[in-house]
Formats: sequence, structure tokens, C-alpha cells
Amino acid sequence: FGKTRKTVTKYESKSHELLTKGGFIDQVASGIFNFLPLGKRVLSKIENIIREEMNNLGAQEILMPILHPKNLWLQTSRWQNVDVLFKTKSQYGQEYALAPTHEETITPLAKRFIKSYNDLPKALYHITAKFRDEPRPKSGILRGREFLMKDLYSFHINQNDLVNFYQKVIQAYVKIFSRCGLNDIKITEASGGSFTKKHSHEFNVLTLAGEVNLIYCSACKFAQNEEIINLNKFRSCPKCEKKLMLGKAIEVGNIFDLETKFSDAFDLKFVDKNGQEKKVWMGCYGIGISRLMGAVVEVKNDDKGIIWPKNIAPFQIHLVGLDFNDSSIVSFANEVYHLLVKKYKNEVLFDDRDNVSNGEKLADSDLIGIPLRIVVSRKNKDKLEIRKREKDTIDLIALSQLSNLT
Ligand SMILES: [Zn+2]
Repeated sequence: FGKTRKTVTKYESKSHELLTKGGFIDQVASGIFNFLPLGKRVLSKIENIIREEMNNLGAQEILMPILHPKNLWLQTSRWQNVDVLFKTKSQYGQEYALAPTHEETITPLAKRFIKSYNDLPKALYHITAKFRDEPRPKSGILRGREFLMKDLYSFHINQNDLVNFYQKVIQAYVKIFSRCGLNDIKITEASGGSFTKKHSHEFNVLTLAGEVNLIYCSACKFAQNEEIINLNKFRSCPKCEKKLMLGKAIEVGNIFDLETKFSDAFDLKFVDKNGQEKKVWMGCYGIGISRLMGAVVEVKNDDKGIIWPKNIAPFQIHLVGLDFNDSSIVSFANEVYHLLVKKYKNEVLFDDRDNVSNGEKLADSDLIGIPLRIVVSRKNKDKLEIRKREKDTIDLIALSQLSNLT
């Protein structure tokens, strides 16, 4: 299920083009996408990396609803104040928000379970669809009306404990993005928007497809969102005095120090050691999972197609059988496939189509971008041609060497 496509359509970004042509996504309407089997596998791998790192932080996974009663959003004044809030009305008259974030449900939930200092700190996350009523969704899965997101919320006895946890989340995020193949993430301060008056941090991937304007240092890790930096004040890096650069970036994660904003709105308190009632301090931490998938494709591609980082590639091995009009090659390819499956389980994609030309099969394999390609063909006889997508190197190996692949 899911085929590569050759038809000419107008694409909104490189990732939109490659993911559509490669059969990863399929557009339903502007800003709304189906994820096909290849795309779903990538999403699941990103999700699992995120789950591992969230669990390492001591956070627990839950699942909250997307449909939020209007009154919860009135309580935080965000029903009126969030301009991209997706509002909908039941045929029975009740109004709802399709949630873009979950402070409005998690704070009342926390209130039911957090009573004393013994119940703190707590960290809860979930992975679910989110909605934004975008006037002009664009760039494919980089900015959609519906998208997949991980959001984590933390609850603390005081600001100090919150700040410590916030720093740990920054480290966890760097690790997550690095495991997804993005080693050069720019961490920038940005305004907190509707979340907080305090500053927040964004995690940005430099690419021309981005919408964020970033000022960053050519030498050190200094980076700032253009919104909040005074360029006249900083002609060179304030940290190391080297040259500052200006670039476009995609925001793949953001974290907010919420202080007691939502605890105030929902009266979330705990009783401290001295028997006194205090406000709970909160933080929230998001990663746009479907956007992250798009951002990786924006930076990991060449003129032939996608180059997936190993950890989030839809499959680890792409076995391509050429010259399938020759039955001896078909049976050899099947033998190779069964050997591979023994070791690599369901990480092997087998192109056994017999109605497609050799050239098309190889082009499709470049487009889909699986890290390791193994070609069985008439030319290679009883040898296997091994090609690494990233390095574009080709080796011939014997069948007996198959178990030594890395
Ligand atoms: Zn610097």
C-alpha cells in the first residue's frame, strides 16, 4: 500500500514534495494529511525516541482528549485570546475547542491528584493530534491545521524546582533531536506568546524552508529569535564576539516556564511541610512530531531524494530485486530476503515488483532514502551490491557476509 508518485503537482516545500512523491504522506486538504505506511513508520520511530527520553526524565505517559469544553478555555481567557484556536459547535449546542495545547485539561486533572508536597514533583506527557485554525496552512507537514505533537507538563513546589527540571528537559530535547539526526539544533529564547510572560525557549533547525528568523553566532552556541534581539546593540556575538549570522529556521520544539499562570486560573494548590497552602509551579514542553519529520527531510536530502537518518528511517534495509523477468534472480532475491528477515525482522523493505523497470526501482529507492540498499541483479550474479544512501558508496559482498552488515 502506498506508491511513489511521478505526477507533477505544485509543492509547498521540499519536504512536501519528497514525502508526497516517496509515498509517505497524502494531502487530504490544505494543512491536513494522511500518513501512509512509510510515513507512519517514521512517525512511530520518532515517537518512540521521544517516549524513551520522556520516561528517562521520570515523566509518565497519559492520553487526554482533543475535544475541550469551551468553559475550560474561558477560565484561562484563551477562548478569546488565542487567535488560532479551532472552535467547533455540537449539533446540540455545546461549543468546544479542538485543542492546540493541553493546559486547560491537565491543570484540572492535576488538581484532582495533587494535594500535598508529597505529591510533587510530577511530570506527565501525551502524544496526540493537535489543531490550529491556520488562515493559510503551508509548507506541507511543516505547518498544518492538524498535526501530531508530544506535550509534557511538569508540576513543582517552587520556582527553583521548576527551573532545575526545565534545564533537564533542555538536555533531553537536545538528545532527542540528535537521535533523530539533527545535531545542530539552535536553542533560542523567544517570547512566551499566550503561554507565559516569562521567556520561553525554542528549538530551531536552520533551513530556508523555515519561518523563524534567527540570529546566531558563527562560532559558539549563541542564538536568538529576531523578534527579541536588538541588532543595533549586537554587532557581534555577545558571548564570544565572533560574527553573527542571520538565517531561517523551523521551530521543532518549544518549552515554557508557566510559573503559576494556570495554577492561578484553576486554583491548583498544595499544602507544604508547614501546613500552608501554596500555588503549584508549572512548566510545559512541546515537540511537533509531524513537523520534526518534515524538518528532517528539509535538511537531509539530495537531488535524488530523502536521506533518512538511521534511527528514524522507515526501514533499515531496502532489498531491490532487478531483472525480475529472470526466475533464477527472483528465487535468489527471495532467499536473500528470508535471510535478512531472520536477522533484521520487519526492518526490511523488499522491492519485488515485476512490472517496473530497473531504472525506476533504483530511482524509487533513492527517493525513499532508506540507509542501506541491497541490490540483487543479473550483473551482480551471486554477489550482493550494498549501497549506503548517505555516503553513496557501493560494495559487492557474498551471501555469507550478509550477517555482518551494519
Ligand atoms: Zn559566539
